[in-house]
Amino acid sequence: MFEKSIKAYEEAKEVIPGGVDSPVRAFKSVGGTPPFIDRGEGAYLIDIDGNKYLDFVQSWGPLIFGHCDSDIEEAVISTAKKGLSFGAPTVLETQLAQEIVDMYENVDKVRFVSSGTEAVMSAIRLARGVTGKNDIVKFEGCYHGHSDSLLVQAGSGMATFGAPSSPGVPADLTKHTLLCEYNNIENLKKCFEDSNDISCIIIEPIAGNMGLVPASLEFLKACRELCDANGALLIFDEVMSGFRASLTGAHGIVDTKADIITFGKVIGAGMPVGAFASSKEIMGHLSPDGAVYQAGTLSGNPVAMAAGLVSLKKLKANPEVYDKLNEKAKKLVNGLKVVAVNNGIGLQVDTRGSMFGFFFADEMPRNFQEVTDFCNFERFAKFHHEMIKKGFYFACSQYEAGFIATVITDEMIDECIKAADEVMKSL
Ligand SMILES: *Cc1c(COP(=O)(O)O)cnc(C)c1O
Repeated sequence: MFEKSIKAYEEAKEVIPGGVDSPVRAFKSVGGTPPFIDRGEGAYLIDIDGNKYLDFVQSWGPLIFGHCDSDIEEAVISTAKKGLSFGAPTVLETQLAQEIVDMYENVDKVRFVSSGTEAVMSAIRLARGVTGKNDIVKFEGCYHGHSDSLLVQAGSGMATFGAPSSPGVPADLTKHTLLCEYNNIENLKKCFEDSNDISCIIIEPIAGNMGLVPASLEFLKACRELCDANGALLIFDEVMSGFRASLTGAHGIVDTKADIITFGKVIGAGMPVGAFASSKEIMGHLSPDGAVYQAGTLSGNPVAMAAGLVSLKKLKANPEVYDKLNEKAKKLVNGLKVVAVNNGIGLQVDTRGSMFGFFFADEMPRNFQEVTDFCNFERFAKFHHEMIKKGFYFACSQYEAGFIATVITDEMIDECIKAADEVMKSL
């Protein structure tokens, strides 16, 4: 079934470290060979062996309209025909920025970059530049891209000076990263007692990188209050949740407002785009208006902007899409839960808009440590493997969220639940 992928994987490993350009793609946490993809068709992925999968990954979030959406495709092709990059301003950038400014009451200006990593890295530099302070507060289990000061290991749950979680990151570069437990207000307070040099809190308000673990409303409120009381800025990393959890991401669901917001994924509709956005006062510190330097040769790339623009316009014109996506997400995870329970298996599920998560656990985890402690990773690996064989492509780790695209139908979800029932019998 996977002959060509197995061969392609071996060949890739000869010339690309681990055979992949982003580690999660190697399926290390579930085992087996990652299918090499030939193409996407709406809700489906088709691999080079000709296997077809219902895709609940959607490129890790960007493809809210599924693969090969005709409007996005058309915009990309017609824009590409005018030239791929100019390194000079285009009106497409203004148009996409305007869409975001119109959606968010706390945003006046947007700067585009080419990835979520870049967006967060730049947002943190800006927060440090604006406040003149050095420390940043980050939560265990939140992922903010792979820049040096954010690659800090999930630690003991105590407020502690972060240790780098990768060789190649000097401890000197992470000593300003203070690590706290997600959803733990006491822990966060202690962090602010320990340091008077905190420039910002960076948080995924709806964490999707330890499975789906939303922050409690009280916790976000505490983040806001502690920032205000200590002259720090609050950054919502909405690279995943932006235009996914709702049209305005977490901002459409919780009442806490951030000072700086980062975007990625859906904002580029599958093209490499990131962005960070804030008030005109804060963004005024950014070069060339201000002194905080930030730049990019391909930033605001016209083809990428065109894709993002069509995507956001479509979402804005059809805001009811989020209710429909959420109904489908609920149908999926509630269905999975029923068949799990029927087979004597504990499953914890949650959704936010088009994002969903399920944990093979008897109790709902609220932070990274609990995800690690509560979940049966072996069971997840087996589930994942068997579902792939039946044509259902879920994220290859218990630490990842799942995504519904508009092209995924109720019938497809019914088929998935039926397949999951058969698989759960063998777990
Ligand atoms: C994916 C992700 C990033 C990193 O984005 P890249 O485009 O992979 O660099 C940052 N923050 C969050 C919350 C993400 O989900």
